[in-house]
Formats: sequence, structure tokens, C-alpha cells
Amino acid sequence: MFDIRIKKRFSDSGFSLDVAFQSNAQRLVLLGPSGAGKSLTLKAIAGLLKPDSGRIQIGNQLLFDQQSGVNLAPQERRLGYLFQDYALFPHLNVSQNIGFALKSGVLNPRRQHQHPVIQLWLERFELTPYALLYPHQLSGGQKQRVALARALAGEPGALLLDEPFAALDLKLRQSLRAELLQLQVQTQLPLLLITHDAEDAAVLGQTVIELEQGRLKSQS
Ligand code: ADP
Ligand code: MG
Repeated sequence: MFDIRIKKRFSDSGFSLDVAFQSNAQRLVLLGPSGAGKSLTLKAIAGLLKPDSGRIQIGNQLLFDQQSGVNLAPQERRLGYLFQDYALFPHLNVSQNIGFALKSGVLNPRRQHQHPVIQLWLERFELTPYALLYPHQLSGGQKQRVALARALAGEPGALLLDEPFAALDLKLRQSLRAELLQLQVQTQLPLLLITHDAEDAAVLGQTVIELEQGRLKSQS
């Protein structure tokens, strides 16, 4: 399911990322301390960072292969990407944020909240009462649900989540962890999640890849 080999050296910071792993799991967790290279790995997979060399494949989709010159643009990779801080658009309300990912995104964003697909995602994530609120008016858990709904509305082939629970308190963290697990089981979407929390890895990871200083420390 995941076949990842990435080498990337930054001459300015001196950091070098050199990771390679393969897994048939549907849910893969990248675990490691701050600065281990987790976000860089995810960015390379998403197409936001071009490796110096390597190969990136998820399922039967080849996303990057330095040897044969394959390098799909981020939007061609059809990945749902949740950034560390959710990166909701502050000037768009909940409906408009979710609608942003729709393939019919050429629609006027001011009208988009009427779209039936948006209504569906609002209902699925119990966000209907908040449809017209803006990100700064939402709690951490609500923001996260909006970000997930937005990612899924784009009908991705896989989900990439960068520390999705980092900003949340323990109780919310536990319940959203369970929700995410349920969501993955329902949708069967391949999921790659980054965390520095071993408990996230234990609950969500069928395969756990441990990174340290840009290198693979263990795979279990
Ligand atoms: P984390 O595991 O906390 O997500 P990152 O992948 O964000 O770690 O970063 C790993 C290291 O790579 C950081 O310590 C930083 O020094 C370096 N780094 C990250 N982004 C860049 C960049 N754009 N240019 C140079 N060095 C970078
Ligand atoms: Mg990070």
C-alpha cells in the first residue's frame, strides 16, 4: 500500500532526510520527536517538497520516481492533506471551507454553501449548526472536523494527517482518535498520520514507522 523512499538534503540547515519504508497496512503512523523529519516526509508525499532522489507510491498510484522522471503535481496526487494547524481559510465560513475542495470549485464560493455535497459533509461531521461560522468562532475539535470534511470532500485517494490532535486536550484527543479510526474503517481510505504521541500510534497504526534525525529508527 505504501512504498516510500525519500532522500533530501538541505544545504542551509544541514538537515538530511533519508527514509525508506514499505507497508501493506491501510493505516500507517510516522512517530518521532520534533525535528525528526516527519512533516518533511509528508510534504514530499503530498508533492510540496521535491526529493533529491527516491520513489513514492501509494496503492497503485506512482506519485514520484526520480529515475523515470515521474513527479505528479500536488493536485494530481488526489491526496487529502491536513496540516498541523488545519490551515482553514480564515475569511471563509465552514460551508465555504468545505466547498473549497469540491471539484466543482469553480462555483462562486459565496454560493457554494448551497451545494448538496456540502450539506452532506456538514451532516456527516455534525457541523450543520456551524455552517455559517468562521474558523475563529470554532473550538479545536470543530476546526479539526471542518478540516477533515474539507479533505474528504475532494474525494482523495488517501489521507495525510500532520499531528491532527496536537492542539487538543486529552479527552477530545481520545474521542477524535476513535472517530478517525472509525472513519478510516468505513471509507477504507489509506491513511498516513504523523504524531509524536505513542498512544496515537498504538491506537491508529497498523504499521508504525519511527523516525529520528531524518532516519528510520524502527518499523513495527
Ligand atoms: P518534524 O518531525 O517535527 O515534523 P520537520 O520535518 O518539520 O520535523 O523538520 C525536520 C528538520 O528539517 C528541522 O529540524 C529543520 O531543521 C529542517 N527543515 C525543515 N524544513 C526545512 C527547510 N525548508 N529548509 C531547510 N531545513 C528545513
Ligand atoms: Mg512537524
